[in-house]
Amino acid sequence: MQRVYSSPTPAEAHLVQDYLAQAGIQAVIQGSELGGLQGLVPTTETYASVWVADEDMAEAEALVREFLDGQPNDVAETAWQCPNCGEEIEPQFSDCWNCGTSRIG
Ligand SMILES: [Zn+2]
Repeated sequence: MQRVYSSPTPAEAHLVQDYLAQAGIQAVIQGSELGGLQGLVPTTETYASVWVADEDMAEAEALVREFLDGQPNDVAETAWQCPNCGEEIEPQFSDCWNCGTSRIG
């Protein structure tokens, strides 16, 4: 087993576990809330941690990165062009600053 993620917030560890489970990777959580398993991790380890089988580690790491990113990288990262007046609008704005047309799509 290898640790792929740890968090001071057990709920977050559970979210990661669920996320991995959806991808077909079985993960286990160890941490202070699970007294019975505590002997398996160093006593200084106070975080809830997510562990996966060695052979799942590479895929699990990628999934955790994906999970932590939250959203696909290419969403809202590029400027858009107003369909009404043709102005180029920064990605953080949902309406055209020039004419007020809402971003579509
Ligand atoms: Zn416009």
